[in-house]
Amino acid sequence: MKGLMMNRPLKIADILEFAASSHQNGEIVSVRTEGDVHRTTYRETARRVAQLARGLRDLGVDVGDRVATLAWNGYRHFELYYATSGMGAVCHTINPRLSAEQMLYIIKHADDQLLFTDLTFIPILESLAGDLPAHLRIVVMTDRAHMPNSKLPGLLCYEEILEDQPQTIVWPDFPEDTAAGLCYTSGTTGNPKGTLYTHRSTVLHALLLAVSLPNVLQEGRKILPVVPLFHVNAWGLPYAAPLAGASLIFPGPALDGKSLFDLMDREKVFSAWGVPTVWIGLLNQIRAEGRLPAGFADVVIGGSAAPKSMIEAFEQAGVNVCHAWGMTEMSPVGTQGNLPKALDDLPPAERIDRKCAQGRRLFGVDLKIVDDDGAPQPHDGTSPGNLYVRGNTVTAGYFEDEAANADVFDADGWFRTGDIATIDADGFLTITDRAKDLIKSGGEWISSLDLENVIMSHPKVMSCAVIAVPHPKWDERPLLVIQPRDEDRPDKQELLDMLSEHFAKWQLPDDVVYVDGLPLTATGKVSKLTLRKQFADHALPDAV
Ligand code: ADP
Repeated sequence: MKGLMMNRPLKIADILEFAASSHQNGEIVSVRTEGDVHRTTYRETARRVAQLARGLRDLGVDVGDRVATLAWNGYRHFELYYATSGMGAVCHTINPRLSAEQMLYIIKHADDQLLFTDLTFIPILESLAGDLPAHLRIVVMTDRAHMPNSKLPGLLCYEEILEDQPQTIVWPDFPEDTAAGLCYTSGTTGNPKGTLYTHRSTVLHALLLAVSLPNVLQEGRKILPVVPLFHVNAWGLPYAAPLAGASLIFPGPALDGKSLFDLMDREKVFSAWGVPTVWIGLLNQIRAEGRLPAGFADVVIGGSAAPKSMIEAFEQAGVNVCHAWGMTEMSPVGTQGNLPKALDDLPPAERIDRKCAQGRRLFGVDLKIVDDDGAPQPHDGTSPGNLYVRGNTVTAGYFEDEAANADVFDADGWFRTGDIATIDADGFLTITDRAKDLIKSGGEWISSLDLENVIMSHPKVMSCAVIAVPHPKWDERPLLVIQPRDEDRPDKQELLDMLSEHFAKWQLPDDVVYVDGLPLTATGKVSKLTLRKQFADHALPDAV
């Protein structure tokens, strides 16, 4: 028997309408590329979003059309999220750190009709000009006074599109599985692959995030997404924050430790979200200032494993660490690492250890770990397996990419994450490696993440990575790549001694190399692919 309740489509536009009427004090504060700070409210934003959507309609944008963005975190980018999806079009966020070749590939693959860009990225677009599709029109996200002198033909001005448009709109009706957003993964192998979010998946993800992180997602809180709007919807914050009534502080282009510290201090940011590499800079600045930014109480770290030393540094300074795990294909959040109340009395050292795990699943995200034959592994915290996920916020297939879809789902429709993980009896997930980053030595696997975790706590180490290099006898052996904090670098023996307190001899790296900086991927993670290529011919001391 069917129930007798209304069935209204979940729609993204309803989030902003709700925030505009119910969270009147919710603010959006943006550091602009023009150099100043801009402040607005959700109420005012809803008016501008209506104007922008009407302007887009006048430019010929229709239901299902893809509208691209090449922009930092700021209020205009936020407006585009809502105006495009509200009218039934698709907001395709482009990561400006992609190579020219990848950028051209996704613009063409997505068949973008319009491209909105921040002033900063005009030179990138100029360099691509000859190869951009002829029908693609470019809008510069600024006002008339700041429009650039550019050789790009027919540039449109953002503020002029809004000008003179009415400040209200009646959003069209469409089914909740209508496409709303498109984000390509950086594609460490092959071409980038697009995840096509729906209204339903996006609204559900916002709700799941809000119930999972009630300490942060509530009225009056100020949240700083350092995680970019150009990658996986800034982890869902542009939707979850207005839904919950929290304010968004957008940092613009300056993401170094000092700029972040000053902005957080000025705006009294409660919670900041981003990948570990960003927090190295902020922690350095906190050390230099001898204090936290005013009001700073919570940090959400994800995208790659948060090193133990980083978790310790924040927690000891009084900042709650939420270590989260997810993927572009998962909207993106899958697990969150705040501890349950039952663990309130854990001694500090055990608390830190628990926080090194990637946390527990969000409601609606199912996890399973299986061996290479598909047999489920026990949830005992020690048996690793290939991690698969399922749920309403998980992709059902990459956008127009049959080849990529052929091998990412198992026979029961679960999505293969490519991560290797354990799950313990309390549901804590620990990522031990990405399958492609594991080191296979003489038939045994060595976890690069475990080794890195220990090395990161060395005071002279700024950052590090452990990668596999080919070995004639053992297949692969680990190589430790170190970025020292300064000239006074830790020596090889000292690092190996440190590791031997925690690992068996055969798991220790065969060699240590020093670099001035580690290569980063387009999403700000250490690029092990680049390092593996760079050190492919590295002669290990005992490889004879
Ligand atoms: P990209 O590969 O373009 O960076 P994603 O941002 O979707 O794309 O990356 C998802 C991957 O990042 C996950 O499969 C996992 O390997 C890694 N990851 C994300 N969060 C964590 C975390 N907290 N700890 C360890 N690995 C993580």
